[in-house]
Amino acid sequence: MFNSLSDRLTATFKNLGGKGRLTEAQIDGTVREIRRALLDADVALPVVREFVAHVKERALGEEVSKSLNPGQQVVKIVNDQLVDILGGETRRLHLAKNPPTVIMLAGLQGAGKTTLAGKLARHLKSEGHTPLLVACDLQRPNAVKQLQVNGERVGVPVYAPHPGVSSESESVTGDPVAVARDGVAEARAKLHDIVIVDTAGRLGVDAEMMQQAADIRAAVEPDEVLFVIDSMIGQSAVETAQAFNEGVDFTGVVLSKLDGDARGGAALSVRHVTGKPIMFASTGEGMGDFEVFHPDRMASRILD
Ligand code: GDP
Repeated sequence: MFNSLSDRLTATFKNLGGKGRLTEAQIDGTVREIRRALLDADVALPVVREFVAHVKERALGEEVSKSLNPGQQVVKIVNDQLVDILGGETRRLHLAKNPPTVIMLAGLQGAGKTTLAGKLARHLKSEGHTPLLVACDLQRPNAVKQLQVNGERVGVPVYAPHPGVSSESESVTGDPVAVARDGVAEARAKLHDIVIVDTAGRLGVDAEMMQQAADIRAAVEPDEVLFVIDSMIGQSAVETAQAFNEGVDFTGVVLSKLDGDARGGAALSVRHVTGKPIMFASTGEGMGDFEVFHPDRMASRILD
């Protein structure tokens, strides 16, 4: 039994000599394994097809290096191609020349936005910034309270429509666009150098929610719009990412719940269909469970 793609590819080549160039027959033998592994990792089918075609092209005629056998050589090509697609270098946040830098969060309900808001605030604070959190999710009962709790956990203030919303059943009324605008004005007045605007999601892509997010985007002109996506979302990653890309033209992606079983196929799909960089990963419910995204680590996760 070979579990990882690396193992399976290496095994495919076990009985073959390792001299000269990789042949088409050798490469074809591995393509099936690569396809299967990527589909297992929940990468969308069109993305898998294109990926495999690129690997094949790259592998054909490539000189087998002295230090690797052909199996290891293909593993290296697959790894390099994954890192390339996932973005090569890590992309850092763009900060505004004239503070405050405005960062807006968007994504489906339950994707992990409110949790991420706290984590991102904590991360930025540790880098010497003075963030303000703004609670514009007036859709989900308790979302404002949840952001206030996260703000307290990380020692970052929260601008909210009105304080004291504390019960599950109580919902907040108000205009989220006005709250966003007022929150940014508050940050400017109180000299916060970064504002993180949490917005409402729905369980599925919904025209009204998307319009609200687009309106908030237009009102506060964010420097970054981060699309938060649950890495366990599987094959629907493509459709969801496309809808948010069209709706709010996000500038970067945050993969949440990477502590779960997901192999990270969503990362590849989202990156492939939108071309937008993956910037951060969320890896648990704690405020410290947060990482700057590293394409090479994600490539290993998909391969292993
Ligand atoms: P929102 O609706 O997009 O604001 O989503 P929330 O931030 O409320 O997150 C939804 C649920 O997922 C909550 O129970 C969070 O504690 C949980 N959650 C968020 N991020 C992560 C993560 O990275 N890992 C795990 N295991 N759970 C998470």
